[in-house]
Amino acid sequence: MGLFSRNKDEASPVIDLREPERSKPVWGSPVPCPECSGRGYLDHIDPFREVMFIHCTDCYAKYEMTRGEMTPVVTSTQAFTT
Ligand SMILES: [Zn+2]
Repeated sequence: MGLFSRNKDEASPVIDLREPERSKPVWGSPVPCPECSGRGYLDHIDPFREVMFIHCTDCYAKYEMTRGEMTPVVTSTQAFTT
């Protein structure tokens, strides 16, 4: 394992432009179907109750997701910043 032998060939840092992980539910985006894990289609958002109304494009199940059910988004802490 020559760890340093290829440094000159890889001088440029690789910039990863891929999208961030999409496994986490995002408010405003449909979440996968709880029945079949199919692709959800966001029908409507109730901004007052903070409920998303979604139906599944695979099995047509209708389901709802409230904002409170979603994993809170960490916005303030910078604990992981080096
Ligand atoms: Zn489904």
